[in-house]
Amino acid sequence: MNQTEDTIVALATANGVGAIGVIRLSGPEAIIIANSVFKGKDLTKQDSHTIHFGHVVDGGVILDEVLMSLFIAPKSYTRENVVEISCHGSNYIIESIIKLLIKKGARAARAGEFTMRAFLNGQLDLSQAEAVADLIAANSKAAQQAAMQQLRGGFSNQLQALREQLVTFASLVELELDFSEEDVEFANRGQLRQLVLDIERVIGKLIQSFELGNAIKQGVNTVIAGRPNAGKSTLLNALLNEDRAIVSHIPGTTRDTIEEVLNINGINFRLIDTAGIREATDTIEQIGVQKTMEKISQTAVLLYVYDANALSDADLANDIAELVKPGIPAIIVANKTDLLPASAAINLQLTDGTDLVEVSAKEKQHIDELKQLIYQRTVKGQLSADETLITNIRHLEALQRTEQALIRVLDGIANQVSSDFLAMDIKQGLHYLGEITGTVTTDDLLDNIFSRFCIGK
Ligand code: GDP
Repeated sequence: MNQTEDTIVALATANGVGAIGVIRLSGPEAIIIANSVFKGKDLTKQDSHTIHFGHVVDGGVILDEVLMSLFIAPKSYTRENVVEISCHGSNYIIESIIKLLIKKGARAARAGEFTMRAFLNGQLDLSQAEAVADLIAANSKAAQQAAMQQLRGGFSNQLQALREQLVTFASLVELELDFSEEDVEFANRGQLRQLVLDIERVIGKLIQSFELGNAIKQGVNTVIAGRPNAGKSTLLNALLNEDRAIVSHIPGTTRDTIEEVLNINGINFRLIDTAGIREATDTIEQIGVQKTMEKISQTAVLLYVYDANALSDADLANDIAELVKPGIPAIIVANKTDLLPASAAINLQLTDGTDLVEVSAKEKQHIDELKQLIYQRTVKGQLSADETLITNIRHLEALQRTEQALIRVLDGIANQVSSDFLAMDIKQGLHYLGEITGTVTTDDLLDNIFSRFCIGK
């Protein structure tokens, strides 16, 4: 895929009708090709970063009135010559212009090819290129920030610096191989051990950040469970501040699960309202109950809702014992407190990892308190502005492999293995670290990453 001698073209804006559409050309001939269809100034004689008004003409026929933006290599996204043609956003016009540009020598771009060129020409490293895809897909403030941090080089800079130090050690250990007869030690084992420990610490933190990073990207799963009529649907509506779930008085109406997205402090939570738990009487109910248990086992946080007026202490204790799983934070939501007599107090022995909050879903009381608790229990103050989060499964895997290789290096040092074994493990660590930033790549890996982009990106 490394042919950058040809000039590629694609629509950079979304498909469909819009006020304007932007067609992007990139490659050595971009300006010449654009100029060949342009009636206006001679584009080949203009400066970089200038915009020119004129017409796109096919033979004598005017196709559209456009603006041509010029970016001359290497001062462009791809580091090649780039022209962005802003035309009117009609499918017909866009298609006609792209066809014309192809007739004049451009080639239709493949998915992600602009960004791939930016990577191949050294504009971005691989994790930054991936951040571009994440940024385009970001649908919450936190997802946008995580992608932006990665795009600015966040953790790849950090890893690159550590990788370079390790490269130095690798070469010293390799040098020892040349003198194997003489039993010399160029790489100080104590220093090497310290460096490996330092790298391990950084990597360990990045690996840990994936859980939150991934949650931010995908939305944090939040299951709402409880008996029929406890007020789950009403609570869902109160949290969302609208009336989407159907609220009814007939127990068990939420037969399947409903999913809605709630944004708290910039993080998206996927609220999953499950069917009521109780002894299932018909098959549809049964499937619902099974699904509830399944969803609970995968959730990041569980909201257990109960009617504080109706449920006996024994039943409450039973439900909690059945639903609350170790390792999954649970928030016990005592609902319908508007109906409780003023003197009533809720006495519940809370276990570790469990919180209690008293609300009235119907009267929308203490809903904000509940929201902040949901946020705290999942995000746990892990999210600070300069925190680097791993959001990409490919990075996670590469980091885990690096970690394993580094553990072998440490073992090797402890057991005083010979330099050749040590060199091998260090090299493996370097290989996996390089996979993240793209220092080490294969065509398969690149194809795999960039084919997930849309055309025109
Ligand atoms: P679900 O089966 O758990 O989803 O329960 P619903 O949300 O359908 O609520 C069952 C009934 O309880 C409805 O009549 C709601 O209006 C009522 N309800 C829900 N929350 C409250 C509350 O906080 N206070 C009062 N008084 N009624 C509520």
